[in-house]
Amino acid sequence: MGIFDGKNVIVTGASSGIGKAIAFKFATEGAFVALVSRSEEKLRENVENIKQAGGKAVFYTADVRDFDRVQEIVKDFHKNVGSIDILVNNAGATRDKFLIQMKEEDFTEIIDINLKGTFNFSKAVSRIMLRQKSGVIINISSVVGITGNPGQANYAASKAGIIAFTKSLAKELGSRNIRVIAVAPGFVETAMTSGLPEEVKETYLQSIAVRRFGTPEDIANVVKFLASPDAGYISGQVIVVDGGMI
Ligand code: NAP
Repeated sequence: MGIFDGKNVIVTGASSGIGKAIAFKFATEGAFVALVSRSEEKLRENVENIKQAGGKAVFYTADVRDFDRVQEIVKDFHKNVGSIDILVNNAGATRDKFLIQMKEEDFTEIIDINLKGTFNFSKAVSRIMLRQKSGVIINISSVVGITGNPGQANYAASKAGIIAFTKSLAKELGSRNIRVIAVAPGFVETAMTSGLPEEVKETYLQSIAVRRFGTPEDIANVVKFLASPDAGYISGQVIVVDGGMI
């Protein structure tokens, strides 16, 4: 018996890192999980691994920026499983540059993936959740959406946008028993952070109270709690998961 038995979940950016850990977590707890990203091979492998462990999963390839494709995926998954109970908007990307070097496309690309991608999926599931009169939407923001960060004006703005989007949706959808929550991870060891120079990583490490980097599992554990009935009175909030960094 898992705590998400009978629940249907969509996780974006589920090919690697935090999204992969979240997808596995829900599957381990009995949910039917739809994994979404652009990388067919990685998604296929993740779905195979979930199935081999006795879980239920399916994958859809999509660029989260593509509004029509996103509506199509949500429609298809809903048609096959009958409800959409939880959405985790996790897909995200960085194009770190100081403003002086930042090109227009560096800005629009990151806003489109991180913020508009979140809009695209939220809009697609909201109609279904409103009809169901139940649902949980969890949006993966970042601590830099709260603090700002030099070299990440595009990324930080997208993540701050996700926070305001979350709070607005929580107020719009709450009366229909739909909770909307943002999670703001600190420094998590994934492909997104692996390319940083060692001295930069060391500086970050010194700023983290518990003196270790986060793992995808750390974030997945919190997402699991927030999506569960135990967190039934949490909505419209930003939950920081950063080991005491900010
Ligand atoms: P990651 O391993 O690079 O994963 C990013 C995921 O997003 C991948 O599955 C990638 O899949 C997907 N993605 C990127 N662009 C996409 C697009 N246009 N359409 C569809 N999917 C797309 O990085 P991560 O650290 O796990 O990041 C996950 C989330 O956590 C992101 O929102 C990130 O901003 C946030 N976060 C991370 C940290 C950290 O320290 N790592 C801190 C705070 C917040 P494909 O390439 O297959 O499309």
